[in-house]
Amino acid sequence: MSSYKIIDHEYDVIVLGAGGSGLRAAVGLSEAGLKTACISKVFPTRSHTSAAQGGISASLGNMGEDDWRWHMYDTVKGADWLGDQDSIEYLCKEAPAAVIELEKYGVPFSRTDDGKIYQRPFGGMTKNYGNGIVQRTCAAADRTGHAILHTLYGQALKHNTEFFIEYFALDLLMKDGECKGLIAWNLNDGTIHRFRAHSTIIATGGYGKAYYSATSAHTCTGDGNAMVLRAGLPLQDMEFVQFHPTGIYGHGTLISEGVRGEGGYLVNSKGERFMERYAPKAKDLASRDVVSRSMSIEINEGRGVGKEQDHVHLHLSHLDKNIIESRLPGITEAARLFANVDVTKEPIPVVPTVHYNMGGIPTNYKAEVLTGNDSETVPGLMAIGEAACVSVHGANRLGSNSLIDLVVFGRAAAKRAAELVKPGTPHEDIGEAETEKCLERFDKLRNSNGENSTAELRLSMQKTMQSKCAVFRTEKTLKEGVDNIRKAYDGMESISVKDKSLVFNTDLVETLEFDNLIRQAITTVDSAYNRQESRGAHAREDFPKRDDEKFMQHTIAWCNGKDSKIGYRPVTKTTLTNEVQYFPPQERVY
Ligand SMILES: Cc1cc2nc3c(=O)[nH]c(=O)nc-3n(C[C@H](O)[C@H](O)[C@H](O)COP(=O)(O)OP(=O)(O)OC[C@H]3O[C@@H](n4cnc5c(N)ncnc54)[C@H](O)[C@@H]3O)c2cc1C
Repeated sequence: MSSYKIIDHEYDVIVLGAGGSGLRAAVGLSEAGLKTACISKVFPTRSHTSAAQGGISASLGNMGEDDWRWHMYDTVKGADWLGDQDSIEYLCKEAPAAVIELEKYGVPFSRTDDGKIYQRPFGGMTKNYGNGIVQRTCAAADRTGHAILHTLYGQALKHNTEFFIEYFALDLLMKDGECKGLIAWNLNDGTIHRFRAHSTIIATGGYGKAYYSATSAHTCTGDGNAMVLRAGLPLQDMEFVQFHPTGIYGHGTLISEGVRGEGGYLVNSKGERFMERYAPKAKDLASRDVVSRSMSIEINEGRGVGKEQDHVHLHLSHLDKNIIESRLPGITEAARLFANVDVTKEPIPVVPTVHYNMGGIPTNYKAEVLTGNDSETVPGLMAIGEAACVSVHGANRLGSNSLIDLVVFGRAAAKRAAELVKPGTPHEDIGEAETEKCLERFDKLRNSNGENSTAELRLSMQKTMQSKCAVFRTEKTLKEGVDNIRKAYDGMESISVKDKSLVFNTDLVETLEFDNLIRQAITTVDSAYNRQESRGAHAREDFPKRDDEKFMQHTIAWCNGKDSKIGYRPVTKTTLTNEVQYFPPQERVY
């Protein structure tokens, strides 16, 4: 592809993504003296992390007794025993220090009267192994992600991370099973850039946009996950897609769980607080899968509100006005803007909405990517944040456990890279074949002149995922999903990109993103079809029970174009230290 101008760069380490996880890794790498590049398709502080509202979990115990072992128990249980317990131990034990570190970096946390970091209750977070609610979620009002992201960007600049902003990464450079860097397209001037690195850290976030109604930003297209699939590597546990109970009806914008943490509650058309029936102990603060399923049952059984009876109400008008003003200003504004609701007087119309991807690139707790073959790692490749499947969230993530995952494993990746890479090590020649292969795909899409618009194909994919791979799933709906999603894929054969330019070509960007999304949609619905049990966010009406004997295993899915291959690998049942013991599976009682 000699027609493209290629500019070469050499770094010790590159971080792909400037959300909370990418920036935390970049800070650690730069601090360790490694020459570090951070590449992002959007300006760093526009990454989806900035939208996180409710908070970041850590057992600081600022507002009552707490213990990292209780946090670990909650996370294992929330994950419905699909999480790797070595990784969960690492997460929960490291969490308090990681939050204090954020405080020292300058995150403006909300405070208690005696000046400590304010912590609020959140779904599934309990004390003493499930006996009572604990206040564990540290918050900066309801703009916690925004505060963290801006602080980390400042720290990365201070530590001399080199940023490549509005560069769209296309593919990994692989040689003999090792990652040697990546290729990116500079949206600003149309040049192609080849980044060489001894370690490449993928931090590209989730792929919520495979669904029609999602709380995530339009940029959440899981590009890194698709790059991994194209490199012939697998993704893990993709069938586990979290629906947040409270997306604004008709719009998808998130209303944080923090609202229920502060005392808000859900009501059906009969004015009944129905969560008391489904989860007598935790009620509105049961974990997200439980609340989303309960809402879906209420709606399916005709107790939804509105003309179509297809959503429910979230009440907070009974809360003290000062609490609403000081702790929930962002959602007050969102409810006014997107639902025309004054939260001090009226309830917010809400419906379960796609929110988080538990699945992603399989890694160990040091953030090294796994080949899918037991615990073998891929040299030169790491993954963190929502793109990764460590797996600490297993079949269902607890609210506020993602932000802590970003910083704990962002830091772990930096530490591991500093052990593996000696600053200034020269780069060996890798030839041109991989670059050619990547640019061929790019060029083909750019010059495609077919009949189908990207927007139509994307809509068909999103509607298929929304209706066939939803909160409740059956053999029938999933089989339809498996077939229909391939029709959307086949449409790519005759896709059309009208704008052929190389400068800020959003038509081409969206087409590349669609190519990435559709591969993940295929692996998601195929993985869901094959898992014949109900666990966490994966609720099969035809297999309502959890089947630990057969399915206490991670799904591993390879996808080459529209064909996928499904395998399984065991869940890690050992802990890292003897400070805590393995938590064996229990029936879940709410
Ligand atoms: C509305 C909302 C509210 C949430 N609230 C909370 C909360 O209160 N607490 C909590 O724990 N979790 C929350 N979550 C989840 C959490 O915010 C996310 O999981 C997390 O922020 C993801 O961070 P990340 O670093 O993995 O990726 P992101 O923040 O999504 O960043 C991805 C980065 O990758 C870059 N990138 C992607 N593709 C490419 C490409 N091809 N080329 C170059 N760059 C690329 C992007 O530019 C971006 O910088 C919330 C999520 C949403 C959507």
